[in-house]
Amino acid sequence: MDGIVEHIGRLPEYALTWLPLVFLGLIVYLIWRTLQFMPRVKPTTVEPDSKSSVRWDDIAGVDEAAKELQEVVDFLQHPKRFAQLGARVPKGILLYGPPGTGKTLLAKAVANASGASFYSQSASAFVEMFAGLGAARIRKLFETARNNAPAIVFIDELDAVGMRRSGTSHNREHDQTLNQLLVELDGFRSPDQVVLIGASNRLEDLDPALLRPGRFDRQILVSPPDLAGREAILEVHTRGKPLADDVDLNVVARHTAGLAGADLANICNEAAIFAGRAERGEVTQADFDAAIERIVAGLQQSRVVTEKEKRILAFHEAGHALMSHLVGEPMPVQKVTIVSRGQALGYTLNTPQEDRYLHTKDEFLDLLKVMLAGRAAEQIVFGAVTNGAANDLERVTELARRMVFEFGMSDEVASRTMRADNYALSEHTKRVRDEEQARLTDHAYAEAVRLLAKHRSSLDRLSALLLEKETLHRPELEELFSTIERESNSSEAVGTPRVVAMPSDPSTR
Ligand code: ADP
Ligand code: ZN
Repeated sequence: MDGIVEHIGRLPEYALTWLPLVFLGLIVYLIWRTLQFMPRVKPTTVEPDSKSSVRWDDIAGVDEAAKELQEVVDFLQHPKRFAQLGARVPKGILLYGPPGTGKTLLAKAVANASGASFYSQSASAFVEMFAGLGAARIRKLFETARNNAPAIVFIDELDAVGMRRSGTSHNREHDQTLNQLLVELDGFRSPDQVVLIGASNRLEDLDPALLRPGRFDRQILVSPPDLAGREAILEVHTRGKPLADDVDLNVVARHTAGLAGADLANICNEAAIFAGRAERGEVTQADFDAAIERIVAGLQQSRVVTEKEKRILAFHEAGHALMSHLVGEPMPVQKVTIVSRGQALGYTLNTPQEDRYLHTKDEFLDLLKVMLAGRAAEQIVFGAVTNGAANDLERVTELARRMVFEFGMSDEVASRTMRADNYALSEHTKRVRDEEQARLTDHAYAEAVRLLAKHRSSLDRLSALLLEKETLHRPELEELFSTIERESNSSEAVGTPRVVAMPSDPSTR
């Protein structure tokens, strides 16, 4: 007993000696655990990705990028030929473009075609919490690649290290990593036969130091595919899938404007899954349609929509569809539906005849009318508007903004841009600009109201049919429009391809 009491009594003295030791042990243990759980430069990340079996014909719709990269293949295969000529061969190539357009795929094809080993790393893996680790990884990666030349080093998400350097202290680690990457690039010698391919979604975000000559001095845009490109990509991804006779990949391509290769691959896969679930031996066009809807508009949901809501929806969508018809051919309606899918309650699917990069001011004005026609129909029929047009309004506002701010398409200022980030603009100019934007949208809305009021009976018939069938496809729409035209040849000019805009008539509002 005495001994224990003595011990307790002397605890503070004891503590002075062993407490620090315990703490030290604890800290060492914690560091050890942290290191264990941290992603490390595992041997696998430095070994070449063995399955770089991507061939050029696995990639479609990015012909220009593929052609430029063909040069790199030549260089990797015949380094002497280029050295003899004193040619400076590319060492850093930057592929930039939206996600899923095939940048990784292209880099792999280069490696496969040239017989080079392929090392890939996502740049986000370099940005570590411990200073110097990211830089060390980069050093290791390049060292391994050099020892196994010819080699392709592929760094995805380059923005993660290549972002403009901040100079602030909390980003020092990040800056060190970027610096190491620059050192490696500058240290490349031609005989090394190592080519660095970087991928990034945006060129603007990258540190200019990365883009200087001798570094990523070759920049190749990998843009989303156009119509022909989408069809070709769909062909790649339906290879080996049994397709029914009714499948028309051109139609699928037309319905997928704006989607990237990864989305298209997804659609082909979904279509096959639909067919499999229905226990069919072939993938049909209907499977593709269902897949497009799933990918584009989210999963079909069983939302409860009241009869009243359904009526409003029907008039709203009929407004869009009728207006597309009234303004003419450039954007024929493929489909209009009031069946709710994902976020959108109903939607009208317009598909342009072809992919185009140039549009006239008149076409944009028509587009504004089409986008505003949903709300205009609500206004005419119910005398009140709903929140259902929020998304339409957002798109309208954005288009009108670009027309005035960027395209010089306002009446007042047609010779220059007036970008939002231009602080040099005078207050007066800014006011003119905002007034012009408002004028475009207000005018388009007035026009939409006027035209729909004029064609009110067509609007009623279209929405009634829509309420009945819930979804109308292009042939049904065409039939309805031509019936209306035949019946009322004299009074209404629904069938004419373009209704000449007339000064808006206040009585129809
Ligand atoms: P990124 O690197 O541009 O984000 P990926 O190369 O990783 O895109 O593409 C992801 C997937 O999408 C590919 O594995 C492929 O299945 C498909 N894909 C994307 N672009 C194409 C294309 N141009 N041709 C064929 N398939 C493509
Ligand atoms: Zn709408």
